[in-house]
Amino acid sequence: MKTLAILGGDPVLNSAPAPYRTIGIEESRAVQKVMDDGELSSFLGSWNDAFYGGPNVRAFESEWAEHFKVTHAVSVNSATSGLIAALGAVGVEPGDEVIVSPWTMCASATAVLVWGAVPVFADIEEETFNLDVASIKRNLSPQTRAIVLPDIFGHAAALEEIMEIAASEDLLVIEDASQAPGALYRGAYVGTLAHIGVFSLNYHKHIHTGEGGVCVTNDSKLAERMQLIRNHGEAVVEGKGVDDISNIIGFNFRMPEIEAAIGREQLKKLDTLLARRQEICERLSRGLSGLSGLQVPRVWEDCTHAYYLYGMILDPEVVGVPKNRLIDALEAEGIAGLTRGYANLHLLPMYQRRIAMGKKGYPWNDAVYSGEVSYQKGICPVAERLQDETYVGLLVCLYDYSNDEVDKTIEAFQKVWEQRELLL
Ligand SMILES: *Cc1c(COP(=O)(O)O)cnc(C)c1O
Repeated sequence: MKTLAILGGDPVLNSAPAPYRTIGIEESRAVQKVMDDGELSSFLGSWNDAFYGGPNVRAFESEWAEHFKVTHAVSVNSATSGLIAALGAVGVEPGDEVIVSPWTMCASATAVLVWGAVPVFADIEEETFNLDVASIKRNLSPQTRAIVLPDIFGHAAALEEIMEIAASEDLLVIEDASQAPGALYRGAYVGTLAHIGVFSLNYHKHIHTGEGGVCVTNDSKLAERMQLIRNHGEAVVEGKGVDDISNIIGFNFRMPEIEAAIGREQLKKLDTLLARRQEICERLSRGLSGLSGLQVPRVWEDCTHAYYLYGMILDPEVVGVPKNRLIDALEAEGIAGLTRGYANLHLLPMYQRRIAMGKKGYPWNDAVYSGEVSYQKGICPVAERLQDETYVGLLVCLYDYSNDEVDKTIEAFQKVWEQRELLL
């Protein structure tokens, strides 16, 4: 048996796989064309035809809507902007609570604070790492107005059950589908099943424009409100004849023409890139699923996984080696992109100290807020235990693996597993 690298042996892998790259000649040509035309953005923040942006922005939006089978796509300059626009559009306001997952990128929750509302962290479940239906129910209060529902790592949350709760409680749901473009839930695209879905086009996502995002909805009122928040709406409502001006605090969330031109080319590549990612991760799962005490990513019946991250769970009793020691040994074998945890946003200083806008504790101490949110350690036991003891992930979003590199990764796991008692 070969000596474990952490104990002085040779590693199984000698280098990390090549970086994941999606930009090619098609994008270069599209950018050059915009440069030749010279109009790098056509937006105007007033009520006229240019309120909706230039030719690439509009074409990109209609192509995105067609691809994802939704009525409206509103491009923005990031998913963070998109989440802010979405929460404003659904009418979240001071005094409200919005239920959010602690296991998501921080912006999913920060967008709630931007509108003076209070994020409430419900716990997640261990099958998909998404919001747990029972925990959502436990966290409902008279103040609850909306849910921000990430489809984390690329697998759908329990959309049907959560949309049922939303309907019976009169809540609006925003899917944060930043990590799940192209994933399916019972035949429909993830991101299109809630009132609004938000996608990210940040550099690390499946397809990207450097920075960028797209909000989708089948509700024309919500689409219009997001367009207004994206583009200086307060200066537009009068000319456009908009009556409901609540939350129409306009930002500049506009996507430039170059990014839109890149996005159009990237969208054409999404299916192929996603299929390759799925092939890589399914190969990994076939190789790793025999290891005792290691749970590979689960994929629900009638769903597909987009595998932004490859999230696994250890059973500490069966594995018998502390998580960090095990991961150190895997890293020593040359496996790139291992991660030990994800988020637990409620433990960030912003929530622990309740300092967000200004220094006085707004929005938590505002007179219109009558809820009693807690951010204490212990409020999300599943998410916290995953972080501390049982979760291990692979950042498959960063690399372009060959089949051989996938097989070597599996071999490194097997090597560590077979000799793991030597790590004690
Ligand atoms: C990347 C990401 C975001 C933020 O996207 P940006 O486009 O970088 O603003 C939000 N939510 C999730 C779940 C993400 O993965």
